[in-house]
Amino acid sequence: MVQQTLILIKPDGLKKSLTGNILSRLSETKLEIAAAKVVKVSRKLAEEHYSELKDKPFFEDLLKYIQGEFHGRRKVIAMVYHGEDAIKKVRQLAGATNPEEADPTSIRGSYGRITTSGVYENAIHASSSEKDAEREIKLWFKPEEIIFHIYPVKEVTRHNVKELDWE
Ligand code: UDP
Ligand code: MG
Repeated sequence: MVQQTLILIKPDGLKKSLTGNILSRLSETKLEIAAAKVVKVSRKLAEEHYSELKDKPFFEDLLKYIQGEFHGRRKVIAMVYHGEDAIKKVRQLAGATNPEEADPTSIRGSYGRITTSGVYENAIHASSSEKDAEREIKLWFKPEEIIFHIYPVKEVTRHNVKELDWE
């Protein structure tokens, strides 16, 4: 099944200069890149992205982490990868959530760590299901920023300019 998945290179991945390495690892999957940008993560975007975890004790630290507050840089790289079984392929390459439990050859197993305050700094985010992927891609990207559309779009007129929006 052709899928899309949202990938974030998290602030620790950027701080450790892992972007090139992560892109090389992603190319092993033979998936196609469909979108990419550098994003300054607001608290609102962080809260929406991790809304399912809002009751977890680590939620506040997680918001700080993804906003770059632990790494002195308020940015992540956001990408959409596209292709057959994209979600599973990228999750496998990323490895388990807990970097100590992740396969040591996976991205998280190779580069992740658990901080003394208990946050899993695991370098990369990858959508974990089709439902999450759709929600996350629509949250991080506008239709015009993505090369292939697998989710329906509609044309809207804003300030007399026609643009695409998620249906
Ligand atoms: N996380 C954490 N401690 C935990 C669980 C999760 O710090 O006990 C962080 C970690 O950075 C993880 C993110 O919260 O990647 C989102 O958690 P989720 O359970 O969705 O894991 P993922 O889908 O990223 O593997
Ligand atoms: Mg998740």
